[in-house]
Formats: sequence, C-alpha cells, structure tokens
Amino acid sequence: MGTIRVAVSGACGRMGQKVCQTILQEKGLELVAAFDLQEQGADLGIILENRPLGIKIEALTAENLKKHKPEVMVDFTTPMVVMQNIEVALQCGVRPVVGTTGITQVDLARVSRQVEESALGAVIAPNFALGAVLMMKFAATTARYFPQAEIIELHHDKKIDAPSGTALKTAEMIARERQAEPAHKEELLKLPGARGALQEEVHIHSVRLNGLIAHQEVIFGGPGQTLLIRHDSYDRSSFMPGVVLAVKNIVKLQGLVYGLENLLNL
Ligand code: NAD
Repeated sequence: MGTIRVAVSGACGRMGQKVCQTILQEKGLELVAAFDLQEQGADLGIILENRPLGIKIEALTAENLKKHKPEVMVDFTTPMVVMQNIEVALQCGVRPVVGTTGITQVDLARVSRQVEESALGAVIAPNFALGAVLMMKFAATTARYFPQAEIIELHHDKKIDAPSGTALKTAEMIARERQAEPAHKEELLKLPGARGALQEEVHIHSVRLNGLIAHQEVIFGGPGQTLLIRHDSYDRSSFMPGVVLAVKNIVKLQGLVYGLENLLNL
C-alpha cells in the first residue's frame, strides 16, 4: 500500500497539534495540509517545534482540499463547525476521521446518509483511546448483570461540550445491554441538576477542572456491592494510536464507522 495523504483540521488546537506531530512521524502517512481558523499563513512547523516544515496553516475550504488532495481529513475542531467540515470533506472526495465531540444522534444519521451518497468511508469516534474503548465495552458487559449504573466523567476546564461524547456513548451501550430497567423512585432535588443529566436512564455527572485531561468512571450498584470501572487519559498521546488506526483503515472501508471498537478485534 502507498503512502496515505492526510490533512488535519483544527491543526493548531491541543489535539490537532498532537495529531500533526504523530502523522509527521508515522510511516505510511504523509501530512499534506493543515487547516485552522487561527494562525493562517503561519508555518505549521514553527507552531509545533519552531522549525519550518513548508506546510502553511490554511482555511478549510473546498478549494484548499482540492489543491492538496488528501485522501483522509482528521478533524479535531469544535461541535459548532464539525458537521460543516465533514460535509465539505465528503463533497471533495476526502474521508473524514472525526474526533470532535458534541455530535448528536440526528447529526450521525445525517453523516451516515452523506457517506452513503459519496460512496466513501468515515470514522467518528467519541474516544480514540484504546483503554476508554475497553472501559465502555466492560461497562456494557457489566450492565447485563447490574442494571443500575451512574457515570462520572471528568475533563479539563477548556472542554466546551457536556456531557462528554464518551459518557453519552457509554450510556447508550449500557442501555442496549441492560436486561432490566433500573427501578424508579421519587426524588426531592434541593438544587436543579443535583442528580446530573439523564441519558437512557443513566445519570451522567460532568466535572470540569484544570489539571484533568479525560477520565471516566462507571459505577454499577447491586444488592450489597458496587463495581467501579475507571479509565484515565493522562496525556493526549493516549489518543494517537487510535487516530492512526482509523486513518489507515478508513481508506479500505465504505460507510460510517461510529466508535473505535468497530475497527478493533475485541
Ligand atoms: P482546541 O480548542 O484546543 O482546538 C480546536 C481547534 O479547532 C482550534 O485551534 C480552533 O481554532 C480550530 N477550529 C475551530 N473552528 C475551525 C474551523 N471551522 N476550521 C478549522 N479549524 C477550526 O480543542 P481540543 O482540546 O483540541 O479538542 C478538539 C475536539 O476534540 C473537542 O471536541 C474535544 O472534545 C475533542 N476530543 C476528542 C477526543 C477523542 O478521542 N475523540 C479526545 C480529546 C478531545
């Protein structure tokens, strides 16, 4: 297989910079374009490690995609622009690999239709860390035996969306596997939101603090016992093997792949 031409959108962001560095070092991948709203015209290499690379930061437009001809575009931007980014990539024949969170079920259905129409492939993964994917899988298995579960997700204070995409997906997976509905009871909330947000009858509590990266606990309760499943990303390098796997696989696949677990032999 030849080298895969990759563009990164959100290249100046925390995740985007890490993805650019990873692609630059990864055999079989070539970084051909870097898109961002910030730093346009600047050399990406100066931003990454103060050494020019000859790749200029540009706006993500159809014109620029056609000029650089990437086969894959990795997107780590914001929930507000990600749908537009996916659409422009597919219209230009570029396969999106999307880590941006905040994508709703309605958005997913729309992307799925766009991907089918384009006869291309796309990956959307709320979490590219292998440990997080395993945490979700173990949580889904546990839900068969423990219908009562609550999720605590903890992220850095710059994260815009809440709850996290990982928490929402975990709740959906728990609901799918649960054999019995958790028991309902009347609750007296002394403050609104005291019991967190509710997705598929699973309470989700979101913590935002400086110093954190991305962490999640799923606590299951049963008579006389609890079971805690926890995953911690201490560094953004935890997401990189998953991103590389998605980029290398999506050039061989058609249709929308939602979740890294569908690219792994779990
Ligand atoms: P960030 O704010 O550091 O970076 C976002 C970048 O996107 C910024 O540089 C911004 O200028 C750029 N941007 C905004 N609009 C744009 C547009 N229209 N075109 C091009 N660039 C644009 O954020 P971050 O911490 O890097 O996180 C980015 C996203 O990735 C968030 O949604 C976050 O939740 C998600 N995330 C996902 C995973 C995962 O494993 N799936 C892991 C970590 C973060």
